[in-house]
Amino acid sequence: MDAVSLSAITLSGHFAREFPEMAIAWRAVEVLEPELLVLNESLAADLGLDTDFLGSSDGVGLLTGYRLPADATPVAQAYAGHQFGWYAPRLGDGRALLLGEITHTDGRLRDVHLKGSGRTPFGRGGDGLAIVGPMLREYLVSEAMHALGIPTTRSLAVVGTGRLVQRETLLPGAVLTRVAVSHVRVGSFQYAAATGDTGLVRRLAEYAITRHYPAAAEAENPYLALFHAVVAAQASLVARWMLVGFVHGVMNTDNMTISGETIDYGPCAFMDAFDPAAVYSSVDESGRYAYRNQPVVAEWNLARLAESLLPLLHEDQEKAVQLAVESLDDFRRQYSAVWAAGMNAKLGFRQGLEEDVTWPLVEELLALLEEGRVDYTSIFRSLGKAARGHSEPARQLVPDVGAFDAWAERWRALGPDADAMDRVNPVYIPRNHLAEEALAAATGGDLHPLSRLLDAVTRPFDESPGFERYAVGAPEDFGPYRTFCGT
Ligand code: AMP
Ligand code: MG
Repeated sequence: MDAVSLSAITLSGHFAREFPEMAIAWRAVEVLEPELLVLNESLAADLGLDTDFLGSSDGVGLLTGYRLPADATPVAQAYAGHQFGWYAPRLGDGRALLLGEITHTDGRLRDVHLKGSGRTPFGRGGDGLAIVGPMLREYLVSEAMHALGIPTTRSLAVVGTGRLVQRETLLPGAVLTRVAVSHVRVGSFQYAAATGDTGLVRRLAEYAITRHYPAAAEAENPYLALFHAVVAAQASLVARWMLVGFVHGVMNTDNMTISGETIDYGPCAFMDAFDPAAVYSSVDESGRYAYRNQPVVAEWNLARLAESLLPLLHEDQEKAVQLAVESLDDFRRQYSAVWAAGMNAKLGFRQGLEEDVTWPLVEELLALLEEGRVDYTSIFRSLGKAARGHSEPARQLVPDVGAFDAWAERWRALGPDADAMDRVNPVYIPRNHLAEEALAAATGGDLHPLSRLLDAVTRPFDESPGFERYAVGAPEDFGPYRTFCGT
């Protein structure tokens, strides 16, 4: 039965207990005028939490962290990180808390975590708060990613605090309740390694193996197997971002999980027009985290993880480096394999087609999309229609119709599987103009547009009547689009 009171909830404090060196006991600030803005009922059910209870004053207290089961041990987690290539030895949860772990109906633990719960000792100059727009944005985009089948942290709720927060203007405050298979990051290992305590790194590695990669424990070298598993998980994750046109925007090592879940939706965006150089973040002036750079950055971040793990990989440092390098070499192979398989699926290619037949078609299509600045999501979905003989929607999207027709004729001759395409090419993603519109309305108190958009993006592959405007690209006068760090 779902928990209907605080005392019926078990928030175990595994991380808090096992890593006192990396956790500061801390409490969330009290929210005086909480308003539950959005609640993820299906996720609540998966966590054994009753939705009526979550809507009650104790429930909202739990979701914002100031009313907890008596034995809960909330902590701010310590981590380090490379931010835009620069090493910061002490980042940590400046405005976030890990409330503890809860058991999901799948039997595995989930972290329950807050963002915007008040300043912690890691807060440096920040106010420890978060505002409604960016917290709802994380909710929207993470739930869209989950519906697309891409590993991600989830969002359980956003609660408005009724308090105004100073940004460029005064804006309404909010707390996001986030759920993850864990919040152990590449930056967590960097922090542990920087203490010089190899025992701590080893315990953290054991923790990651137990929670995420239990098979690694059976390997001859479990720590190398852990590293290799993270390489594979991240290669697959980033390939899947690329396939849906997702730009994370701030791939610092503290924003990269060991589990392979997408984390920290700040200045992220889905591409409208296909543009390998796409950058949306207002702070990413050099384009370090541009769309096309994401695999290279992921590999760079994994090299930082390898450095932190070196003492565990082999007692001879040279041998340890060699093992790490060999393992990291696999990133490109794994990334390419997942990306190619995904692209073949997007184009409906049947099994067994030779690569020298399919590959030129992929390359030529992407060149056409880039040249014509074609809407990335719409074109793939329209190709599903073209595979059924209805080419007009796709033709209307590509300026060079002649080149497209020639391409499409060769592609159709391979007999693309339209149904299979529709299962991987979404109709609905959180398009930038729609997200902006919904979040502006929500900030002003009208949650209806957000709720409609959530309905669309959480069933991304099913075309639904009444949702036509959610399926089309941004209007001409929208953009160039800029996102701001999730503040
Ligand atoms: P992020 O860019 O959200 O991944 O955050 C990077 C670091 O800055 C983390 O250590 C955050 O906890 C911290 N941080 C971000 N915003 C705030 C804030 N408003 N107050 C305190 N710390 C913050
Ligand atoms: Mg972060």
